[in-house]
Amino acid sequence: MSPSAFTLSPIVAGLWRVKDWNLSVDERVRWIEQALELGITSFDHADIYGDYQAEALFGEALKAAPALRQRMQLITKCGIRLRSANRPYRINYYDTSAAYVRAQVEQSLRNLHTEQLDLVLIHRPDYLMDAAALADTFATLTREGKVAHWGVSNHSASQFALLNQHHPLLTNQLELSPLHLAALDDGTLDQAQQLGARPMIWSPLGGGRLFSADDEQATRLRAEMTRIAERYNINLATLAFAWVLRHPSRPHPITGTGRIEGLRDAVAALAVTLDAEDWYAIWTASKGHSVP
Ligand code: NAP
Repeated sequence: MSPSAFTLSPIVAGLWRVKDWNLSVDERVRWIEQALELGITSFDHADIYGDYQAEALFGEALKAAPALRQRMQLITKCGIRLRSANRPYRINYYDTSAAYVRAQVEQSLRNLHTEQLDLVLIHRPDYLMDAAALADTFATLTREGKVAHWGVSNHSASQFALLNQHHPLLTNQLELSPLHLAALDDGTLDQAQQLGARPMIWSPLGGGRLFSADDEQATRLRAEMTRIAERYNINLATLAFAWVLRHPSRPHPITGTGRIEGLRDAVAALAVTLDAEDWYAIWTASKGHSVP
């Protein structure tokens, strides 16, 4: 399949926090089924989530209900060597060598009880990345049928361009929320729009800080967003997702919630089109000043 023929669901479910949800295997199966019923068919993982244990929790559910696998797209990431009890590195660092990427992809396949990963992202830009060599690794693992598509996360526009020149990248997974605006200005979303490579968006609720933080920015945003949300007759979470979705790069926001109601809040945003004035009112509340 060419990169353009493959698409993720409009809202993607993120599994970073799955270990904290403390769900039994049956509850995890039910959670996946309910996500699928809501039209969320893409699931975002990383090798390191939950201290390297999150993928296996999801995989356990897929093993218990194997028919679910054909109804979903599995996304995972690798490239960060994170210190852990079983990984006593001296420091955390990045590794995009052929051997490490292969080892982590093969580990993810085992954890998730699947024959193929639909999309694998390089989690963070590796300063020692040899783009041509990494592209060869991508091509080999694709030829072996282990990975269908490749992408990156947290890469600058030039880092994306460098690797994309050697191997087609499907997406750059970036942070964007009313609390975190950097991607609007740093060229990454411009590039996504230019190339038609729809970005994935992490922490669209600022990791929950939109609700819980009491610094000036969050307080200002909550006040403004509460007024706007009332007018659209939606809640704050739905408004935050609608704000992300309004960007012309056609982003795929990733949820982080363990609650089905939280998934529903995200999906509800697909039916909302924010007025530009309201979009900018949120931008203004985030910055604490008007546009120039
Ligand atoms: P998020 O949606 O910004 O934050 C999720 C957190 O907000 C959860 O703890 C959730 O708790 C809380 N929350 C949601 N609705 C709430 C409400 N109405 N009131 C209070 N709290 C609420 O997303 P995220 O988890 O930070 O990130 C989403 C996904 O992005 C991750 O799962 C992961 O897949 C991906 N990610 C990628 C990177 C990267 O570097 N590529 C980095 C971070 C994350 P509840 O469970 O109680 O709803």
